Amino acid sequence: MAAATIAPSALTADAAAFQGSAHEHGVAELSFAVEDGQVQAELHTPLANLVGFEHEPRTEAQKSAYENALAALRQDDLFTFEGARCALSDVTLDTPGYESPHAGDEHGDHEHHGGHAEIVARYVFACDKADRIRSAGTRLFDRFEGFQEITVIFLGASTSVGELTPARPVLEVE
Ligand SMILES: [Zn+2]
Repeated sequence: MAAATIAPSALTADAAAFQGSAHEHGVAELSFAVEDGQVQAELHTPLANLVGFEHEPRTEAQKSAYENALAALRQDDLFTFEGARCALSDVTLDTPGYESPHAGDEHGDHEHHGGHAEIVARYVFACDKADRIRSAGTRLFDRFEGFQEITVIFLGASTSVGELTPARPVLEVE
């Protein structure tokens, strides 16, 4: 009975909590970085979390769901900060490119990336006291039904990591 003791490594705990690459529906990754009085936020999410599908929108309902999702991602109150007043100054969405449906494509059933698609949303906030931020949170759980858990990292004076859920959508920042 060589019962090897597996000691969790405190050194790798933070890194393991934020690996960021797996495509898992319901899950997303969010990062905040304080720099020069600004906060840059970056969200990586499967498209399924936003609209419930990941193929090119085909029906009118799907097209409208897709457009509504992009508009919701551009809302200036999607993220919340305590300790500083932050105003959204820029949004960039890296989408699968569904805005321009293939002209004359009557088949329309080919999928991107083997049936999966992701969106990366980047935000820049101008803050009055970015170094005083005590917490950062998101309303993604309220605005979309597909999010269950969001891995979050906040890079400020120190680094804070955590898991946001509908019940706890805010990360306390150290
Ligand atoms: Zn997927």
